[in-house]
Amino acid sequence: MIPLASDTETRPDAAMRAAIAAAEVGDEQRGEDPTVNRLLERCAALLGKPAALFLPSGTMCNLVAIKLHTMPGDVVLAEGSSHVLRAEAGGAGLVAGTMTEPITGSPDVPPGTFTVADLERAVERITILPSPHGPPARLLCIEQTHNLGGGTVWPYETLAAVAGRARERGLAVHMDGARLMNAALASGVAAARWGALVDTVWLDFTKGLGAPIGAVLAGSEADIARARRLKHAFGGAMRQAGIAAAGCLYALDENIARLADDHANARRLATGLARIRGLRLSHGPPQTNIVFFEPGPDGPTAAQLVASCRQRGLGLGAVGTRVRAVTHLDVSVEDIDRALAIIAAAMAERRDRP
Ligand SMILES: *Cc1c(COP(=O)(O)O)cnc(C)c1O
Repeated sequence: MIPLASDTETRPDAAMRAAIAAAEVGDEQRGEDPTVNRLLERCAALLGKPAALFLPSGTMCNLVAIKLHTMPGDVVLAEGSSHVLRAEAGGAGLVAGTMTEPITGSPDVPPGTFTVADLERAVERITILPSPHGPPARLLCIEQTHNLGGGTVWPYETLAAVAGRARERGLAVHMDGARLMNAALASGVAAARWGALVDTVWLDFTKGLGAPIGAVLAGSEADIARARRLKHAFGGAMRQAGIAAAGCLYALDENIARLADDHANARRLATGLARIRGLRLSHGPPQTNIVFFEPGPDGPTAAQLVASCRQRGLGLGAVGTRVRAVTHLDVSVEDIDRALAIIAAAMAERRDRP
C-alpha cells in the first residue's frame, strides 16, 4: 500500500530504532531523563524560547496551551477549519471550559490564514456587548502550516500583523506548529523567527519528522512551569520517556533537511493530478507536503475515489468533497508516479462505466 493518507504513517527505520534502543533514560516525571532534557534544550533553541516541555502528543500541546492561557468562559479564536476546532474531540471545551469563535479568512488570502481585518471582525462579534455581558476574548490560535487549508504557510508579514494586533487587543497568541519545520523550509524563515511572533509554540515529531511518539511545547519560563503542572494533571507526565525522545532527537538530526524531498514529491503529484481528466486541485500548487484535489460533479465522490484507489494499493484520505494526499519519508518519487497511474485508472474506470 502506498501510504499517502497521512504523514503520521511513517515508521521508524532501522537507524532511528537503533538510536531509540541506545537511549540513556531516567524518570522524566522528576526531570531526570537525560535524553528528554537534551531534546528540550535543542527544541527551546530551535523554537526561540527560553523553556520547553515534552508531551505525548500534539493534541495535548494544544490542550495544555489553551488551559494555560484561559479561564473557563473565555473565548478561544481560531480559523474555522483549524485542527484545534475540528479534530481534537472538543477537548478545549471539555477540559478548559472555553468557548470558541471561528475566524473566516477573506477570499483573497491563502486558505487557513486570515488578515487583521478578519481578526477584528471576529473580536467585534464577540464583544458586541460591553463587559460584563460579552465573554472575554483571551486567546488566538494560529496553525502553521495549515492542514485543511492544504499545508498553507502563513505569509510572514500577515502573521506578524495579526499576532501584533491580537496582542494589542490583550489576547495571548499560540501557534499549533505541528508542521512548523515544513513552514520554515518553504518560507526560508527560521522556526525561531516564527516562534518569536507568539507566546507558545509547539512542534510535532510524529508528522513529517517521522518519530513514533512525542511533541514539544515551548514558551517563557513562567508559562512552561505552569504547563508542566497541567501536563501532570492531564496524565501526560511520563517515566523513561527518553525512549521516545531519542527518536525525536534522531529526527532533528536526520529528517529536517529531507523535508525538501516531500515538498518536491507533493509538487510532482499535484502537477500529475492537474493532468488527469475530471480532477482539479482544490488549492492550486502545494507549498509544502499536503495536496487536496477533488473530482468534478460528473465524477465519483471523494469517498468513492478513495475506496477505489485503496483497492488498487494506494492510501488516500477523503475530507468532505475533497481528497487529501500527504507526502513524507516513506513515500518515494516512484511511489508518486505509481500513485498517479492508480488515480488515473480509478478515474478512467468510472468514466467507462455506462
Ligand atoms: C496532527 C495535528 C495535530 C495533533 O497532533 P497529534 O500529535 O496527532 O496529537 C494538531 N494540529 C495539527 C495541525 C495537526 O496536523
